[in-house]
Amino acid sequence: MASPLTTPLADRWNALLQLLDGIAQEHPDALLASSMGVEDTLLIHALMQLPTRPGACRTWSADSENRPQRDQFLPNLQPNSRAIGQKDGEKWAAAVDLQPATSKSGRFPGVFMLDTGRLHQETLDMVGVIEQRYGINVQLMHPKPEAVKDYIATHGLNAFYESVELRKLCCDIRKVEPLRRALAGHSAWITGQRREQSSTRAELPETQWDEAFGLHKYNPLASWSTDEVWAVVRALGIPYNPLHDRGYPSIGCECCTRAIRPGEDIRAGRWWWEQRNNAECGLHTSVNAHHHEHTDPTPAA
Ligand code: SF4
Repeated sequence: MASPLTTPLADRWNALLQLLDGIAQEHPDALLASSMGVEDTLLIHALMQLPTRPGACRTWSADSENRPQRDQFLPNLQPNSRAIGQKDGEKWAAAVDLQPATSKSGRFPGVFMLDTGRLHQETLDMVGVIEQRYGINVQLMHPKPEAVKDYIATHGLNAFYESVELRKLCCDIRKVEPLRRALAGHSAWITGQRREQSSTRAELPETQWDEAFGLHKYNPLASWSTDEVWAVVRALGIPYNPLHDRGYPSIGCECCTRAIRPGEDIRAGRWWWEQRNNAECGLHTSVNAHHHEHTDPTPAA
């Protein structure tokens, strides 16, 4: 069937598929971080066009040198992953089939979402929409209940409005720590970030080494414009979060995101009560390889 995309959009789309295929080959264990924003659902749709490959497998021919890596990874296995440990003299080996934990369909890559406990119902509903449409399993990463409980008991449920420090602490508990857990043991992650989204993302590269989390990071939509994203989404009938139609270009926690007015920056609705240069939560700490300030937060946010 002929593609509903015409040049130059068709070229853009094909280049994206090629890029994603390259990532799939280099990092079969990569994870897509989704906040159920339009960029994420576009990426999920694109990833579903890639050829199915056998399940990813990580192997460590272990010795004392890579033992820390193994020890970090094994506790994070999902219930349906398989780990095979073997001791051979002083050597220890582990083969881990990652795919069943991340994708029901056996497709690359696993998709996860940080369920902070403060998301819009519309965003939570999108998980079911995407799972049904694409036959994949979106892994929800939750914050540690005791950490949330302590924060609320000490500072209050909505203490993030009081200071940048308390906001960052809340983001650390509800987003950064679960993200660290999600990425542990993986060699790469993929995000829907774009340069156009804010000045803090103006230099966002397509490919970078994520210093903060210690793995490769890919931003395949870095150079895409908002218009290009929406043109592809509409042409291909890709599902999108209904909040986008209500003035929310950026999807985040309900209490920390408001709709924006025409002409406002795409991310102006995020932590709107703070100074703009604080409008990040710690998920995207290295916008480029040489810029390590805490800039932006949520994977799709
Ligand atoms: S965005 Fe707001 S509610 Fe969500 S984790 Fe950060 S401070 Fe907490």
